[in-house]
Amino acid sequence: MKMGELYYNSTAWPVKPDFAAMRTFGPTPRYERVKTYQPPSMPLPLIIAGPCQIESEEQVRAIADSLIANGIKFMRGGVFSAGTYPGDSFGLRGTEMDMWYSIAQEKGLKIVVEVCDPRQVETIEAYADIVQIGARAMQNYALLSEVAQLDKWVTLKRAPGATLDELLGACEYLLKGKAKPILVERGGASHLNHCRWELSVSLVAAVKAMCNVPILVDASHASGRRDLVERLTLAGIAVGADGCIVECHQDPANARGADAVQTIDFPAMARLADKVNKIHREINHEHSNEKLG
Ligand code: PEP
Ligand code: MN
Repeated sequence: MKMGELYYNSTAWPVKPDFAAMRTFGPTPRYERVKTYQPPSMPLPLIIAGPCQIESEEQVRAIADSLIANGIKFMRGGVFSAGTYPGDSFGLRGTEMDMWYSIAQEKGLKIVVEVCDPRQVETIEAYADIVQIGARAMQNYALLSEVAQLDKWVTLKRAPGATLDELLGACEYLLKGKAKPILVERGGASHLNHCRWELSVSLVAAVKAMCNVPILVDASHASGRRDLVERLTLAGIAVGADGCIVECHQDPANARGADAVQTIDFPAMARLADKVNKIHREINHEHSNEKLG
């Protein structure tokens, strides 16, 4: 029996003998596609790094060069402004998108671009190597259905209040089409107040035990604290994550937006990438027999 089958075959669950029966309300979890999905091969560990926000050509060039110098091939960046409170100039920042895209093309970097609005999927598709669905949009089913039509990798971030079942349910929407989902654990709500959100390493481990959908950890958004980003990222890799998303910048303290506090500098990014590569190699070596068995 494969490890993950314990979860589906609830009578075999060692701690909760009948997990399904314990659910008083709500639909019974249903994720047939997730269970059988075999992703195409991808570079592992998948390290995605970059700023919270795309700011300027100078910033993009500095970050791109630093990523390349550290063997990182995927750059993230925000080009859609929105916020907790409505503002005047929200929307897709087209000129920054064009600038970022042309520098990435010039340097051979792949880019990860978030799409927030089903009406912009076609526009973003032309730029993005990986399309990101942000945590707050995880259950935007119109957006999921639109993005599902793309023949692209899609990072799907867990909503802060979403359960594992809800995350996998959202993933089912992507698997209805051609999209190749990559789950992202970016922390959820908890009563703790030392971090912005609580990164669930148990969720990462559970996903790895259940299915073959890749999963990354995003300790930048999970912690909201640059001093914890490396430790939490490595914890995620140690429980089996296939890679990570990390926010970095040449001058973190002056990075645009509220996420400056969680943004790390280039030397920290280089150290983190090196450790992620080492731990990922170690973990996959240890688990190789289990996977073959
Ligand atoms: C982001 O990745 O820039 C972001 C806003 O993250 P999240 O959707 O996880 O909050
Ligand atoms: Mn951010």
